[in-house]
Amino acid sequence: PFSSLWGLVYECYKATCFSFPLHQTLGSAPMPVASHSMRHVRALDEERLMEVEWEDGGQSLYPFTWLRDNCQCPHCTLRSAEARLLLMADLDIHTGMDSVEVTKDSKVSIVWPDQHMSVFDAEWLKKRCFSDAARQAMQEELFLNERYYWDATLRIPQVDFQEVLHDDGAALAWLLALRRVGIVHLKGAPAEQGQVARLAERIGYLRLTFYGHTWQVQDKSMANNVAYTSGKLSLHTDYPALHFAPGVQFLHCINQAKEGGESEVVDGFHMAEQLQREDPEAFRTLTSLRVDFTDTGTDYCDFMLQSKNRIIDVDSEGKVTKINYNNATRDSVLDLPLHQVQPFYRALKAYVDIMNRPENVVTYTMKPGDIVTFDNWRLLHGRKSYISRPDRLRHLEGAYLDWDEVMSRLRIVRRNVHGDA
Ligand SMILES: [Zn+2]
Repeated sequence: PFSSLWGLVYECYKATCFSFPLHQTLGSAPMPVASHSMRHVRALDEERLMEVEWEDGGQSLYPFTWLRDNCQCPHCTLRSAEARLLLMADLDIHTGMDSVEVTKDSKVSIVWPDQHMSVFDAEWLKKRCFSDAARQAMQEELFLNERYYWDATLRIPQVDFQEVLHDDGAALAWLLALRRVGIVHLKGAPAEQGQVARLAERIGYLRLTFYGHTWQVQDKSMANNVAYTSGKLSLHTDYPALHFAPGVQFLHCINQAKEGGESEVVDGFHMAEQLQREDPEAFRTLTSLRVDFTDTGTDYCDFMLQSKNRIIDVDSEGKVTKINYNNATRDSVLDLPLHQVQPFYRALKAYVDIMNRPENVVTYTMKPGDIVTFDNWRLLHGRKSYISRPDRLRHLEGAYLDWDEVMSRLRIVRRNVHGDA
């Protein structure tokens, strides 16, 4: 029913009544590539580039070295694994090209100086074009790094739990919204333990941590974590005491409190963008200083964790990629020279103040059978203090996954729904 991935995202958005502004235009979205045919192909021997002229008038350039490296013949590629057999030791990175032509069935056929022959599919080449626009489209198709930023006006996308388990279209809508928006509610799970593990199996496997395969959020005596009390939890990401925090979190409500216990979330990437705009100095501090985190106790087994993380992680282009912040596990050990201590506190306070603004916080109450799934590298979450019913404790069951596994499942269900991309 959807003509493109973007059609689907759009439908998914309409269906869940999103009421926040879309910060990114749909214009830069990758579109399914139509069948491409070639008008002409030639070798530019001087530059050692192969030039393809497409029927639509566009041109693409491919280095000889790259073409030889990616020969798809059975000697150079193990088809059953889609893996390269050709050894680096056997690759001549200064190779010339004896001849190149378009075959009758519209493929590119190359003969190399040692008479080895390579044949490339037009579609395959088109997708791997080295132009900025083509590379950007391919990277977006692979990683879906465009995000929709939101504030308190967000209406959290909802998908049916059973449909996600059994239908690839529903699973795709779930995972796309999880990636783009960062949070999705699944409704209608049985109000008993074991559901987050079932959901993790739908993806692949869950992430084991010192809190176990899955973990029970309840008021516990001698709690080994502040989450296992009935007190308020301020906005945080889970597990900054690990250098590689879990990317995705599932939380399933089994019993809700008699009073209180509402959940709160903010878009940490959006808040970081606001901080950068309002207080660039604070943003620079939080993206450069590494802060110590610690977590010690016994659960799955005994543990004594130490980590150093930037509160706001950015990539080499300055784009925010991950938030690491939990005030409970931020260590009293602070590895900063004296003169940086006060500026650090000032910067952290500025970021937390933005997060706590009512116009930025989304509040919701989970009901038994609800599962919230969210991006733990991006969202900060918290809960209000609560009072349990005397006969049954408030009880949530949680599990972690990593983005690699979640994105793997997303690509597979997308292929199943839309055909081979
Ligand atoms: Zn070959």
